[in-house]
Amino acid sequence: MSRCYNFCAGPAALPEPVLEIARDDMLEWHGRGLSLMEMSHRSPEVVGVTEHAEQTLRELLGISADYAVLFLQGGASTQFAAVPLNLLGDKAGADYVNTGQWSKKAIAEGKRFGSVNVVASSEGSNFSTIPAQDSWQLDANAAYLHYTPNETIGGVEYFWTPQVEVPLVADMSSTILSRPINVADFGAIYAGAQKNIGPAGLTLVIVRRDLLGRASPHCPAMLDWKVAADNDSMYNTPPTFGIYLADLVFDWLKAQGGLAAMEATNRRKAQKLYSAIDDSAFYANPVELASRSLMNVPFTLADPALDKLFLQESEAAGLLNLKGHRSVGGMRASLYNAVGEDAVDALIAFMRDFEQRKG
Ligand SMILES: *Cc1c(COP(=O)(O)O)cnc(C)c1O
Repeated sequence: MSRCYNFCAGPAALPEPVLEIARDDMLEWHGRGLSLMEMSHRSPEVVGVTEHAEQTLRELLGISADYAVLFLQGGASTQFAAVPLNLLGDKAGADYVNTGQWSKKAIAEGKRFGSVNVVASSEGSNFSTIPAQDSWQLDANAAYLHYTPNETIGGVEYFWTPQVEVPLVADMSSTILSRPINVADFGAIYAGAQKNIGPAGLTLVIVRRDLLGRASPHCPAMLDWKVAADNDSMYNTPPTFGIYLADLVFDWLKAQGGLAAMEATNRRKAQKLYSAIDDSAFYANPVELASRSLMNVPFTLADPALDKLFLQESEAAGLLNLKGHRSVGGMRASLYNAVGEDAVDALIAFMRDFEQRKG
């Protein structure tokens, strides 16, 4: 049996060396006579792994002591509610930018807790652009501004950081760790783990400490970032196996040379695929050039009647999970950190061959 190339949008490919370590640790962790999954979350072993994961993540992203790092559950979707519950304070509402399906979900959830001012929307361009900040209608009384730096479904990514007076909140689920960021620009960052961090079931929150303690009195303890921070992410049982795997992924990223090295590789991977698409009259990507995602590359075939055959043949060639999101159609190749350049080369070779035979 051999492993295929996996272009899944999430849960996504994990680095093979990480899976190998996890396999070797599965029955017995470091000579302790049991697996890490079977240990108390308050044992020195699990606490040690959690502290090491946090430390390595702080190094990778350059997270200062002014920020708390939280390992939570519930996915990014739970943070759509946790953000307003923690940050609205005495404000009536918040600003949101609408650049795609994930923005829309964050907006819909935000409306349950306060007024939502949509400062700009790219829905008119079918979410293929990012509205320039000078067109945004900001509310001076907003509690925060929420945006989605990478829209996983539309394949649209910001290569600039919004400049606002209020805390900046980012859903980084599908872009975190793909390139360096300046954490100090943000009030809060959150991400589901299953794209670039680890397995599904773990959620990461990075929040500026001065924003803790503003949660609504109705905020459940499980969603209150301060409760999590005060309890070192162990107010209840955290997803210990997810934290353990994320820890291994963080070590792997360090061994690759950190996020600057990942960015160089990720840019090369994406550039190759976009060039192959642009150089052909058979494949197309609808996103404006300046906002094409490094992580998620949607593309269509000139004849949608060939979609099914493309998927069948690519799967048979060991290229898995290329089907586009149901809301967009066509194909999507997700090129997260664990998807190697060899995978991209194999995909491009397949695409060229398919076009020659069927195009
Ligand atoms: C995948 C994804 C989500 C949803 O994450 P869950 O962990 O499944 O809740 C939210 N936002 C973005 C940008 C995503 O890519």
